[in-house]
Amino acid sequence: MDELHIDHYGEVIICPYNKAHVIPAARIQRHLFKCRRQYPNANIDICCFNRAHHVPQKDLQQHQKNCPDRAIIEVCKYVIEDGTASLYNPSPMEEQDPGQQVAAARYNEQDENWDDMDAPRYDPEQYCKQNPVVRKTMHMTPSEKRNFREKERIRIATLNKAMESKGSAFGASK
Ligand SMILES: [Zn+2]
Ligand SMILES: [Zn+2]
Repeated sequence: MDELHIDHYGEVIICPYNKAHVIPAARIQRHLFKCRRQYPNANIDICCFNRAHHVPQKDLQQHQKNCPDRAIIEVCKYVIEDGTASLYNPSPMEEQDPGQQVAAARYNEQDENWDDMDAPRYDPEQYCKQNPVVRKTMHMTPSEKRNFREKERIRIATLNKAMESKGSAFGASK
């Protein structure tokens, strides 16, 4: 897109859809989306870094290589990916607790069979009896361990109560 500076008029942009449209920069975005509808066969693409950059198809690659907004987007993308990645990183405690991971994996397997009527019925009580639901307490001071065990005891008691009152509706106690 060509940008011009016209005295007493400020920054203007020549519309890529019609060279006769000379639009003040402040209004160009609205204009472009209107014009795009009027010229659906103009062979103009929208820059993936800035929706206000409408560029002839043949120039798009070149534009996106040099787009001034490219650097901003790439920094944002990096921050978002970084933040998302840390969400999926297991915490150090979980990492050191393979027993819990195995239990979680088994639970997922059961989950996948939820809609399969031919699969054996999932019995949460049976599951709790057969699996060590109490999480391990590695790398904690004695008082932290006591605290943790007490919290676990309450958590499991609450879970059991919820299961008793809801019958087989395990998982609804979230
Ligand atoms: Zn236009
Ligand atoms: Zn651009």
